[in-house]
Amino acid sequence: MPLDTDVQRQPMDAGAEAAGAFDAVIVGAGLAGLYMLHRLRQLGLSARAYEAGNGVGGTWHWNRYPGARCDVESMDYSYSFSDELQQEWTWTERYASQPEILRYINHVADRFDLRRDVQLSTRVTAAAFDEATNRWAVQTDRGDRVSAQFCIMATGCLSTAQVPPFKGLDTFAGRWYHTGHWPHEGVDFTGQRVGVIGTGSSAIQSIPLIARQAASLVVFQRTPNFSIPARNAPMDPEYERRLKANYAEYRRQARHSRVGFVVPTNEYSAMAAPPDVRHREYEDRWNRGGLGFTGAFSDLLIARESNDTAAEFFRAKIRAAVRDPAVAETLVPKGYPLGTKRMCVDTDYYDTFNRDNVTLVDVNATPIDAITPRGVRTRDAEHDLDSIVFATGFDAMTGALLGIDIRGRAGATLREKWAEGPRTYLGLAIAGFPNLFTVTGPGSPSVISNMIVSIEQHVDWIADCLAHLRAQGLGAIEATAAAEEAWVTHVNEVGHATLYPIANSWYMGANIPGKPRIFMPYVGGVGTYRQRCDDVAARGYEGFTLTSGR
Ligand SMILES: Cc1cc2nc3c(=O)[nH]c(=O)nc-3n(C[C@H](O)[C@H](O)[C@H](O)COP(=O)(O)OP(=O)(O)OC[C@H]3O[C@@H](n4cnc5c(N)ncnc54)[C@H](O)[C@@H]3O)c2cc1C
Repeated sequence: MPLDTDVQRQPMDAGAEAAGAFDAVIVGAGLAGLYMLHRLRQLGLSARAYEAGNGVGGTWHWNRYPGARCDVESMDYSYSFSDELQQEWTWTERYASQPEILRYINHVADRFDLRRDVQLSTRVTAAAFDEATNRWAVQTDRGDRVSAQFCIMATGCLSTAQVPPFKGLDTFAGRWYHTGHWPHEGVDFTGQRVGVIGTGSSAIQSIPLIARQAASLVVFQRTPNFSIPARNAPMDPEYERRLKANYAEYRRQARHSRVGFVVPTNEYSAMAAPPDVRHREYEDRWNRGGLGFTGAFSDLLIARESNDTAAEFFRAKIRAAVRDPAVAETLVPKGYPLGTKRMCVDTDYYDTFNRDNVTLVDVNATPIDAITPRGVRTRDAEHDLDSIVFATGFDAMTGALLGIDIRGRAGATLREKWAEGPRTYLGLAIAGFPNLFTVTGPGSPSVISNMIVSIEQHVDWIADCLAHLRAQGLGAIEATAAAEEAWVTHVNEVGHATLYPIANSWYMGANIPGKPRIFMPYVGGVGTYRQRCDDVAARGYEGFTLTSGR
């Protein structure tokens, strides 16, 4: 594991750095890019991080919509690499709000003196591998032309906001926003007629707050989601004290868990429990709130019959919460198993539909024809609006990577290579693209996990790999085509042994028209996956070709 103290950076070649030659370029300065920078510094490598946003923080810089907060608990959703950091930082709530997480990330950037190697407001547009020198040539939209031996993509899995191509959007006379690009100054909806398009996680967090502020709110829903109450509350100081006293062991368990945080899980099937016991288990987890629900039984994400019992429990909760039976029925998710689209965690979501100023429109029954100057026109009504909020999600996992013109050996592009869907070795490396790493790339647990745990695992693995190359005097590392093929097959097999691929989810690329339907994350478990990566390294980077020379 990395040292806790920030070792002063000793560039390999200060002159080369001044001329735009680095040991590594990092793309993105969210949780992944910042930690990567810290680790490279500790190794004495020179690095430059480029960030498209005008501040660090990634997700937490961009997603400033009302109600934005983490849905993994704060004590888990935080860096573990520095014991001093985790001991000194105090979270105020069970689930931290976006402003608090952004304050935390900025604190980390200052505490570890990371800013001096981060260039903000700069988008990397192209990266090309030069086989003669084993270096990447990186270009940005600000005209930078730099080279680096290693190129590390910390571009984020949910950083490419997706606005569906609605006819007429450019004619809308009001204002429109995407939750993932929220104005820094905030938006005051007081007195306005607002429409929210989408009912995924961001919508479910923001709708209750927008409904309280706006004069009226119309929610346009395509697919209802399963949402569980957060039961957010001020941080319990006694809980915090106990956990901090035992943080190292707590983090260890999280790293070796299934999803990157500790969830008490029953190791038997839902069908093995008598109905009253099963119901009590669901009720307890519902009352505790949060994502731990799916740990109720061992097979909720594997066996449809078991999943149905949990899904029915949720449906009954929704019908009980929403007064108008027709509205309740529209909000009830059907046709896909619980947990196979990202489960949402809410505060007052269903109750919001009992408000007089909130209308739900089922766009399956009445599709949106167009955005008009006045608002949104569905097949059978025109909804006059002052503002439209697109809570329509992201081009997940591959969008940011394919947004860059990445060229590997012989000028082959990543876009061509991934035309039928992403292919990686371990979600970390790509055959044909030497010395390029993807943090939480497709084929790794990534978005299925507590992401900060997965980020730290990848960053540590990459840093250890670079240290190994340096120690051995090696110049390049590249995944073999055979190892990549075997990994892709394994990821598919593991995915298809679960219920996940049944849903039309963004895990499958189903939210982006024309995107190949591939189940992208690795669902074999965070702990199992970590072991696999460690084994690969321990066996001398099995599945990689290592070559000498710089
Ligand atoms: C609203 C929301 C809530 C979430 N809540 C949770 C949660 O509770 N728990 C959890 O585990 N995960 C959550 N996530 C997932 C979250 O994305 C990760 O937890 C984590 O923040 C990802 O960090 P990252 O550094 O990998 O990526 P990001 O935070 O996305 O950072 C990537 C950065 O790269 C930059 N970038 C991309 N392409 C380029 C380019 N070409 N040039 C320059 N810069 C570029 C982007 O601008 C971005 O700032 C949430 C995501 C969203 C959107």
